[in-house]
Amino acid sequence: MLEYCVKKAREGDSGGRCRVYSVATDKRGNYLGEAMNSYVKTSPVMKKFNFLSGQKGKEYLHSEVRTILSAIKSNRIIDKLYIARVNKNGDSLPAKPCIICQTFIEDYERLYNTRIKIICQH
Ligand SMILES: [Zn+2]
Repeated sequence: MLEYCVKKAREGDSGGRCRVYSVATDKRGNYLGEAMNSYVKTSPVMKKFNFLSGQKGKEYLHSEVRTILSAIKSNRIIDKLYIARVNKNGDSLPAKPCIICQTFIEDYERLYNTRIKIICQH
């Protein structure tokens, strides 16, 4: 699955130098959502969580948040979140949810009374 994320991150264009791709699955391994980060699209959700995590001016949509938002629409509970990151040349880099995404993930976990397993490259 991580290889799939890396592949999609290589193919995609976030409109910026960093490309992150993530996929959310449920317990059975069904895809609930997937997305790339975007330096073009902003979102009120990102604004809110920027504010909550004490960050400012970074309201562009992160891959993890986009993926979770689309997974919520599926009405299924997220079990795993795979995250891959590549640089401009397509080399894979260590990935880790930033503080904003972590805050968002914790909020989701509280709301749905669950724990998401984060699987990312080191
Ligand atoms: Zn993030």
